[in-house]
Amino acid sequence: MDNHSLKSQTLAAPVFEPSDFSPGSLFVVEQLQEHGFDAYVVGGAVRDLLIGKHPKDFDVATNATPEQIKQCFRNARIIGRRFQIVHVRVGREIIEVTTFRRGHEEERSEQDARASQSGRLLRDNVYGSLEEDARRRDLTINALYYDTSSHQFIDQLGGQADVEDRVIRIIGDPAARYREDPVRMLRVVRFAARLQFDLESDTESAIASVRTLLTDIPPARLFDEWLKLFMNGFSAPTFRLLRHYELLTSLMGEAASPATQGEPALELQQLALGNTDRRVADGRPVTPAFLLAALYWPAVQACAEQLAVSGESPIQAMHSAGQQIVQQACQHLAIPKRFSLAMRDIWDLQPRLERMQPKKIKDHLAHRWFRASFDLRLLREQTDALGDDCSAFWTDQQQRYPELVGSARARREERSERRPRRRRRNRDS
Ligand code: ATP
Ligand code: MG
Repeated sequence: MDNHSLKSQTLAAPVFEPSDFSPGSLFVVEQLQEHGFDAYVVGGAVRDLLIGKHPKDFDVATNATPEQIKQCFRNARIIGRRFQIVHVRVGREIIEVTTFRRGHEEERSEQDARASQSGRLLRDNVYGSLEEDARRRDLTINALYYDTSSHQFIDQLGGQADVEDRVIRIIGDPAARYREDPVRMLRVVRFAARLQFDLESDTESAIASVRTLLTDIPPARLFDEWLKLFMNGFSAPTFRLLRHYELLTSLMGEAASPATQGEPALELQQLALGNTDRRVADGRPVTPAFLLAALYWPAVQACAEQLAVSGESPIQAMHSAGQQIVQQACQHLAIPKRFSLAMRDIWDLQPRLERMQPKKIKDHLAHRWFRASFDLRLLREQTDALGDDCSAFWTDQQQRYPELVGSARARREERSERRPRRRRRNRDS
């Protein structure tokens, strides 16, 4: 028996208080059990309680099927395509309820689940036991179950020992599990960065052999994952680990990897990440548009410089470069239009702010992305050995006309509030 299984057998099971759980999760577990089903709070919430953190949301796992779950509640909706889950609304809370499923290895019939040639799982709606459900999860620390009625704690794969040892360990054979779903590599990095845990050695070493599979993942799913990686307050350590494991390029494209662009580029990216994390910690709003604009800035700048050499004006060059880099980025990440347009506005304003033209002051101040663009300018001045004349100028202007800053946005939103847009029926067609 290895140290890991030995340790997991000697640990005392934790006991949590009802007040550790949200009212909604307690209600959902109780209600399912009253209807004769097994039900547990599962995954991230139990992990966070073990660590001593307050869980951000509560998921429930049960042996009831989605249809049966639905019948236990007044306000429940079956959602999901890749696998069906049920959203149960309890007051203002939404509890995600999943049926125990078995994973790829436990497949009994070829038709139960389909895998692509590389071994990637395409559909896995195959129900199973709690044991099977635990094994199909990604990490030992996420395969923890807690029955809030009986206080039974179920840990079949040594997740509690790994929490104690601060270790991220993939369940099963890491290379095979990454092949089934390459996004698990990003999840490993996300949890390592967020919890400040280390990667167990096989979990770590397998990444090198499969990292290129990340390029097979649909850009829309990568963008969802990008948001979880970068908008949750630990983007700086996440970025560092993604670079370390050479996953950044598959996620964000070459344009986000300033390996060939030198130290100032990396420094600018790190400052932007640090600012974003501080804002999250302070509870201030963050927008993906600013961080994306900063992360891709070194590439945009290099591209614009090249275009300017071939004769385009600085403003035109910046505009074309923005278009090119967004296009490159979108081959990896499906950046929604509202963000990519904002990124391009933030970049377009850079050469305009630099001109400090008196005639344009009020227009630029009123621009809805003025603040973000000004913030990017500040980062550039810190890292690019630019003088600070430009930021000093715009600091003065903001003090002179504070009511103008970003006012174009306010005006537009006011307009759309007064005159609600008619909803078009076939928006996607
Ligand atoms: P968070 O606190 O970030 O929500 P979480 O552990 O709850 O962390 P989720 O992304 O909400 O993470 O996923 C819920 C659970 O589903 C996880 O705990 C994990 O057990 C399982 N899971 C999610 N994605 C995968 C995946 N790609 N492969 C295997 N299991 C997964
Ligand atoms: Mg969760």
